[in-house]
Order: sequence, then structure tokens, then C-alpha cells
Amino acid sequence: MQQAGAKPIQIEHRIIRPDGEIRFVDEQNEVEYDLNHKPIQVFWTIQDITERMQSEAALKQAKEAAESANRAKSEFLANMSHEIRTPMNAVIGFSELLSTLVTDKKQKSYLNSIQTAGKALLTLINDILDLSKIEAGRLEIQYEVVNSYTLFNELKQIFAVKIAEQNLEFIVDIDKELPPALVLDEVRLRQVLLNLIGNAIKFTDKGYIKLSAKIHPTPSFEKGILGPGKISSKVELIISVADTGIGIPENQLALIFESFRQQDGQSTRKYGGTGLGLAISKRLVEMMNGHISVKSTVGEGSIFEITLREVEVSATALADSQDEGFNCKGISFEKAQVLVVDDIESNRNLIKEWLPKVNLDVLEAEDGQKALLFAEEYHPELILMDIRMPVMDGYEATQLLKENPGTDDIPIIALTASVTLEDKSKIKSHGFDGYLSKPVKTHDLFNELSHYLQHTKPAELGTQAVTATVETPTLEKIVEISVLRQTLEEKMRPVWDKISKMVETDAVDDFAVQLIKLGKKHKAQHLMDYAENLRELAEDFDIDGVERTLAAFPDFMLRTTDDGPINGLSSID
Ligand code: ADP
Repeated sequence: MQQAGAKPIQIEHRIIRPDGEIRFVDEQNEVEYDLNHKPIQVFWTIQDITERMQSEAALKQAKEAAESANRAKSEFLANMSHEIRTPMNAVIGFSELLSTLVTDKKQKSYLNSIQTAGKALLTLINDILDLSKIEAGRLEIQYEVVNSYTLFNELKQIFAVKIAEQNLEFIVDIDKELPPALVLDEVRLRQVLLNLIGNAIKFTDKGYIKLSAKIHPTPSFEKGILGPGKISSKVELIISVADTGIGIPENQLALIFESFRQQDGQSTRKYGGTGLGLAISKRLVEMMNGHISVKSTVGEGSIFEITLREVEVSATALADSQDEGFNCKGISFEKAQVLVVDDIESNRNLIKEWLPKVNLDVLEAEDGQKALLFAEEYHPELILMDIRMPVMDGYEATQLLKENPGTDDIPIIALTASVTLEDKSKIKSHGFDGYLSKPVKTHDLFNELSHYLQHTKPAELGTQAVTATVETPTLEKIVEISVLRQTLEEKMRPVWDKISKMVETDAVDDFAVQLIKLGKKHKAQHLMDYAENLRELAEDFDIDGVERTLAAFPDFMLRTTDDGPINGLSSID
């Protein structure tokens, strides 16, 4: 009990003395009390305070050191990733370019390996960077109006070839109530779904993958009340990815969400992977105000489910995205001059190889200062500007160009290996008109350029396609021709359907690879020739050729009859 007349006790915490006695400590009045709140001793000697202060200071120092180490780690990772992405630009870009020049099959396969390894390395770097950014609290969710239907269909398309390759079925089941325009972080949601669907396919040998989406309306959500330009209400969005694959044992359901964790005893050789995908997905979903869960039965399959709470439904007409479905098929620009500013020669060389193919002339400068001189002197139609450069960096150069009435009308696109949000907003604030992330892909480059430069796309090639040369039939011994015919019809035609609508060289390449496999399996030389030819055309970015060859595919299938040899196309020019 408190003693009458004593100072009010400000008991702050309990301590246990070395002899086991429990005491209360009133730090403010510097008194220690026993369990009955009876003062025991005044113990705050100078010595004690010094010790306490010393340990407090040491703690503070340790905390600061830890925080600074963490910051240094994030910076290190961000810098490393930047440094690795820059040379990867050359590795991937030049091997892409080289494969259009090399005809020898063996050399081509070496190049393929470089490209595959390059892409895998880039994925790993991006994963590590993402994880470190999330951990350092530096990854921000960026909401925008997203067309959910386009997103889901795109995902289906992305995996079409893999699905066909593994003889799986891909079912997309979207609830009719799902509003088309939702406010989401499209990039991050796509990243999560790519991972979940990629896993589902990887761990499923037969059966199907099902991507479902539905909403739970919140009370305020009513259909039909959305006025134009208004964000009207919120829903709970539930997206699930189900598979009929190997499943996950109950005791491992939680650990697979940890970094670098996979199912115990899983074959690295068969499944590969790093065990980072789900760790990143879980955190991203949580940052998007949601959660992810999994149900699974070993040998039967798994269902991963994402629930995003309070997703805003937008009635705003989706910005008519010029980029949607953009493809650079046979794009040609009106003659124009593009100034490429980059201190790394190989980066400039890469762009120098690409641009003349679409009728653009290239001027080069290796730093910001030279860029200013050339821009004044030649007034190019567009500038591609690297950010980090010696002498004068891209920010400063762009700012000066935009302040100069002689050059302020030249569109400037930033070329950046950085992906942080700060950098992106810095890019905007310095007057850049757009930006491209390194490694730059031709598709993205041409797409971006097409926003600023006059260009033409060739007239529809449908009629031309009909005139594609169909060579005289060649007899050959095909194994199980009826199975081949059926596979072509059921598995390959739907893929063909999609890629012919929007020629994208990567997808054409995957399609061709799939045909080559089929050709090998059925000993159908004509099929292999057809596919090889298609691949080469795609690798050469010969979009006209790709279109003509693709257009001849139905004809090619028709000629694959049950009762005879393929009346094939050994080559189409
Ligand atoms: P990775 O796929 O690179 O190994 P993830 O973090 O995406 O990394 O997945 C971690 C692990 O979770 C996988 O290695 C696998 O053991 C398990 N897993 C994930 N998805 C599935 C699935 N659909 N079916 C079976 N196991 C799965």
C-alpha cells in the first residue's frame, strides 16, 4: 500500500533483482519499491546512471547501425540490380540480334541457351530486387483503372503454348457480375497471377488449370448505378487458380510462402525455381489490402485463392489504350532522325541496329553535354536518353533541353535500368515525355516511338496471304497421322487463331517450337520445315513473312489427311 503523505508513486516497471526479489521501479522519482509498494532504497547512483546511459547509447548505436546496414543492403541490391540489368541489356539484345543473322542450327541453339539463361537471370534479379524493396518498405502499390477481362484473357494467351505443350486445359471462369473496370495495381496483380498460374502449370502433368474471378458486393455496390467518370463503390475481388497437379502436403502449406522454400524433397532438376515467387506474391497481395490462401490434396491438386478487399469499381471509361494489343507488325516510320544518348557503346549499337530497320536514322551522343550540342545542331525528331552518364546525366540534359526554346519540342524518352518509384517520378518531373526500362525490347521501343513519330503499318495482308506459295506435295512416312491431325486441329489451331490476330514474335516462336516437337514426334519432316521457317521469319522480325506463313497454316492442316501423307509446305517464302 502507498504510505500516507509520500510522493505519488509513478511505478513504471517491474524488475527482478539478482537475489530473486521482485521490485517496482519508479524511474521518475528514482525509488525502488517492494511488492507492497514499500520504498526499499534509493539506488540511482551516478555509477548506475552512467551504466544505464551507456547501455542505452550502445543500444541506440546498434539500432542505428542495423538500420543503416539495412539501408545499405537495399541500396546495394538496387545498385547491383541496376548494374546487372545494364550488361544484360547487351547480352539479351545482341543474342536476339545475332539469332537473326546466324543460320547454323547448332549456333542457333547456343544462342537460344544464352537467351534462355539471360531471361532466367533477369527474372531472378527482378525477384530479389522486389523482395528487398518490399522488405525495405520501398515498394509502393500504384493503383489505376484496369480492365479485368483483358487482364484475364491476356494471361490465358500468355500460357497458351505451355498449356498446349503439356496437353492441359486452361479454363477461365469469370463471374458475369465482375465489373470490367476495377481500380487495381495491374502490374503487381499480373505478377502474382503469372506466378500462381506458372506454378499450377509446372506442377500439373494432366488435367486442367482453372482461373476464376468473382466478386462479393459490399452493401453499397449496386449494378447499373455507375455514372460516367465516377468511382462508385467497392467490392471484394476473389481470384483463384486451381490445378489438378501433384498437390502439397498439409504440413507444408504454410512454409511454401516463406522465402526460398519449396516442398521438402522436391526435385530441383525437374521443377527448378527459387522458392521466391510465393513469398513475393503473399507480400504483394497483403500490400494490396488482401490475403492469399491455399487448399490442397496430395495427388489431386491445389487451389490458391487471393481475396482483395475494398476494390474500387470504376465507371470511368478505360483510357483508350493505344498500347493494348499493339504490335509492331511491319511498322515503318516516316524518315526521321533519332538521337540516342548513352555512355555505353553496346547500348547505342543495339538501338543503331534496330532503328534503321524501321526507316529511322540514328545520331549518337555519349553524354548529356554532347546531346545538347547535337540537339541544337540537328534538331532530331526524338531523343532516347540514358539517365546515368558521366559529364552530364540524363536528368540535367533533359531539363536543359526542355528549357531551351530551340529544343523544347523534341520528345525525350528516358532509357532507364532503374525501376524504383522515386526514379519514375523524378523522370516525370524532369520533363521526359516517356520512359523505357532496360533491357529494352524492340516491341516496347517501337510502341513508344509510335506515340511520337509518324508511322505506317502495312495494309491488311489477308489477300496476300492467300497467294502464299503452296509447294507441291512431298511424300513422307508420318507416324500416327490421324493423331497428328487431331493434335493440330484441337491444340494448335486455337493457338494459331490467337497469334495470327496479333503477331508477336515470342508467341510465334513458341508456336513454332511446339510444331517442331510435334513434327519430331510424328516424324513429319514437312511440319518441322514449316515451323523452322516460321521461327526464322519471327527471329528476323520479318512480320510480312510470318503473316504469310501463318495464313497458310489452315491449308497446311487440311492437307494432313488421315488416308495419306501430308501434302505439305516445305517452305513458304
Ligand atoms: P518456385 O516455384 O520458384 O519454387 P514459389 O515460391 O512460387 O517458388 O513456390 C514455392 C513452392 O511451393 C514450390 O517450389 C512448390 O513446392 C510449391 N508449390 C507452389 N505452387 C504449387 C502448386 N500449384 N502445386 C504444387 N506445389 C506448389
